[in-house]
Amino acid sequence: MGRGAHETSQTSGTFACCGAARARGPFPYGSAPRLPDPSRARGPARSPPHGRTAGALVTALRVERADVVVVGGGGAGLSAALAVAEAAAREDRRVPVVALVSKVYPMRSHTVAAEGGAAGVVGDDDSLEQHVADTLAGGAGLCEDDAVRFVVERAAGELYRLERWGLPWSRTDDGDVAVRRFGGMSRARTWFAADKTGFHLLHTLFQTSLRYSGVDGPVRRYDEHHVLDLVVDDAGGPDARVRGVVVHDQHRGEPLLIEAPAVVLATGGSARAWGTSTNAGICTGDGTAMALRAGVPLRDMEFLQFHPTGLPGSGILLTEAARGEGGVLLDADGRRYLADYGLGPETPVGAPVPRTMELGPRDRLSQAFWHADRDGRTIPTPDGGVVLLDLRHLGKERLAERLPLVTGLAKQFAGVDPATEPVPVRPTAHYTMGGIRTDARGATGVAGLFAAGECASTGLHGANRLGSNSLVETLVVGRAAGEAALAWSRAAGHPGADGGAAGAGAGVGPASADGEVVDRAAEIADRYLAMRGRGTEPPAAIRAELGRVLDADAGIYRDADGLRRALATVEDLRARYADVRVADTNPVLNTDWATTVELGATLLVAHATVAAALAREESRGAHQRLDFPDVDDVPRHSEVRLDAGGTIEVAHVPVGAEHDMRVGKRPITTPMSFSAERGAGS
Ligand SMILES: Cc1cc2nc3c(=O)[nH]c(=O)nc-3n(C[C@H](O)[C@H](O)[C@H](O)COP(=O)(O)OP(=O)(O)OC[C@H]3O[C@@H](n4cnc5c(N)ncnc54)[C@H](O)[C@@H]3O)c2cc1C
Repeated sequence: MGRGAHETSQTSGTFACCGAARARGPFPYGSAPRLPDPSRARGPARSPPHGRTAGALVTALRVERADVVVVGGGGAGLSAALAVAEAAAREDRRVPVVALVSKVYPMRSHTVAAEGGAAGVVGDDDSLEQHVADTLAGGAGLCEDDAVRFVVERAAGELYRLERWGLPWSRTDDGDVAVRRFGGMSRARTWFAADKTGFHLLHTLFQTSLRYSGVDGPVRRYDEHHVLDLVVDDAGGPDARVRGVVVHDQHRGEPLLIEAPAVVLATGGSARAWGTSTNAGICTGDGTAMALRAGVPLRDMEFLQFHPTGLPGSGILLTEAARGEGGVLLDADGRRYLADYGLGPETPVGAPVPRTMELGPRDRLSQAFWHADRDGRTIPTPDGGVVLLDLRHLGKERLAERLPLVTGLAKQFAGVDPATEPVPVRPTAHYTMGGIRTDARGATGVAGLFAAGECASTGLHGANRLGSNSLVETLVVGRAAGEAALAWSRAAGHPGADGGAAGAGAGVGPASADGEVVDRAAEIADRYLAMRGRGTEPPAAIRAELGRVLDADAGIYRDADGLRRALATVEDLRARYADVRVADTNPVLNTDWATTVELGATLLVAHATVAAALAREESRGAHQRLDFPDVDDVPRHSEVRLDAGGTIEVAHVPVGAEHDMRVGKRPITTPMSFSAERGAGS
C-alpha cells in the first residue's frame, strides 16, 4: 500500500468513478472492430461529472503524485528506481518521489528465477569489442549497434556496483570474480552466483532500495498494486504525452491514479502466453499491451526465444550454465546429436568449446531438437519427445557447488538425480526478444514514457538473445531509463509530489490541477472494475486455448498455414474475451479479476506476435519459416501498431534506419493490416 496515501478531492474528498454494470461487454481490449476497445479512446475524452450515475458501480479514485512512476519491481524496475534515488541523494534540490509499483511483492518478480548469470567483460583474454561481436552475431542482423555498445560498455560496471551493494558473486580460488561459459559467447564472461543469480541480484537491488524507502525517502513502494493502464494525451498522435498510471490497490480494493510526467514500464516479458514456458504466471505482457494502446510500436515481436533445456510438461528451466559447466545433450540412443545438425565438430565430453555443440546459440539448439524429433531420435513421453541432458560426469561435488538449483529442480520435478541419471529435457518458450520500441536508453517516443528490461526492445538482442545478456540489460537500461525519466520530469517542470514545497508531504499532494486527467483515469478504472460479475466465457478456457495454439503453430518452426490458424484463433479468443466471466465480485485481492485483466493483455500481445510472425517471410534467428527458409538481404525490424479502429498493422523498417522514435512518424514500408474479420494478413 502506498505510504501516506489519503483520498483527495477537488471538492468533496473523493473522485467518484462510475460504470454501469452491464450484462455484457464492452471490455478492455475487446476485439476490434466488432467491439470498440474502450481503453484506446484517443485524445482527451470527457467523462460525466464526478459522483454521477445512480445505481451504477461507484468507486472512489484516490489521486497521488510522483515525479517518476516505475511500473515493475524486477531487475529493470528496481534499477530505474534506484537511479532516481541516487540522483536524489546527490542533489540538494527537492527530493524527487519515485513511485515503485508492482503487482507482486518485488522479490517475487520473475528476475528471481534467473539462474545462469550476467555477462560482463573482465578477463584479460576478453574485450568489449568481442562481447559486441558475439552479441551482433547472435542477433542475426537485427541488433541496433548503438544499443549493443551502450549495454556492453556499461555491463561490468553495473555488476561491480552490485558487488559493492553485497551481491555474493561466485569466486575463483584466487578470490577473483568467477566467470563461466554461456551459449553463443566466445569467451567465459558470465558472472554468476552458483545457479541462483537472479535471486541474489534481485535481493541485492531490493535491499539497497530499502535504504531509500524510509518515510522521507524518494522510493515510495506500491506493492501488490496492479497497473491497469497509462493515461496518455493524444495517444498515437505526434503530441503523445504520458500523464500517469491508473492502478488498482489490491489490498484496499480501490483504484488509484498516480499522476506523473514520466513513467518507466519495466513489466517483464510475455512468454507465459505459450502453453509450455519457463515464465511465471505473472509474465503476461501487461506493460507491452499498455504501450501498444498508447501508440508505441512493438518491435520484432515474432522473435520468441525457445530455450532448449526445459523440463517436459512444466517447462521449468534447467539453465544453460549446466552446458557451460560441461553438460552434454544425448538423443534416444545416447548419442550426442548436435553435430548432425550443423553444430559440430563434436567436442570432448566435459570440455565445452564456445559457440560449438552444446554451447551453440539457443535458437540453433532448439532447431536441432526440432529436427531430431522429426527424425525419430527423441524419446516419446506424454509431454512430447525429449532428449537427455547428461551431467553425470561433472560429479556430485561440482553439481552441488555450481548447479545446486538445477540438481534440486531435476530431483523435484523430474524425479531424477543428475549425479546418477541424465535428465529429460525439451525446448520451452522462454524469452521475449521483441517488445516496446525504445532507443538504447529506454525512450519510447511518447513524451515521458520509457521502457526497460524484457518488455522493451532496445535493439540489444536482435533476432536471438545470447544467454546472460538480459540481466545486464535490466541493470544498464533500467538505470538509464530511470535517469532519463527524472531528467524529463525535471524539465517538464512538474510541481512535484509535494506540490512544489521541498520535503514535506511528498507523495500525497493536492489533487491534480487537471481534473480532466482524473476524469479519464476514472473512466479507465470504471471499465476494468465493471468486468466483475459479468460474462459467461471462462477465462481458463481462453487461456488454455491460447497456449495450445501458440505451442502448435507459433513454435520453433512456423509456416503460413499454421500462423493463419493461430491468427484466426487468437482473434476468435479476443472476441470471446469480450464476454469473459469474472465470477468473483470482491474488490479486495480478487485474483479471478486480476488474472482475467492480465489475460486481456496477453491476448493483445499474442495477436501482435502472430501477426508479426505471419508478416515476416524469411527465416532469421529465432523466427524460422518452413515456407520461407532463406534470409532476406536487407535486415528489417517489424513494427506492430494498432490503428485507430483497433486493427493490428505490421510494417517493416530497415535496421539502423529508424532512430527517430516519434510515434507519429510513419514506418518505411506500407503497413499490412491484420483484421479480426479477415483472420489473416492482407
Ligand atoms: C527461468 C529463467 C531463467 C533466466 N535466466 C537468466 C540468466 O541466467 N541470465 C540472464 O541474463 N537472463 C535470464 N533470464 C531472463 C531474465 O531473467 C529476464 O529477462 C529479466 O529478469 C526480466 O527482468 P524485468 O525486470 O524486465 O522483468 P521481471 O523481473 O519479470 O519483473 C516484472 C515486474 O513488473 C511487474 N508488473 C508487470 N505487470 C504489472 C502491472 N500490470 N502492474 C504492476 N506491476 C506489474 C511485476 O510485478 C514485476 O515486478 C531468465 C529467465 C527465466 C524465465
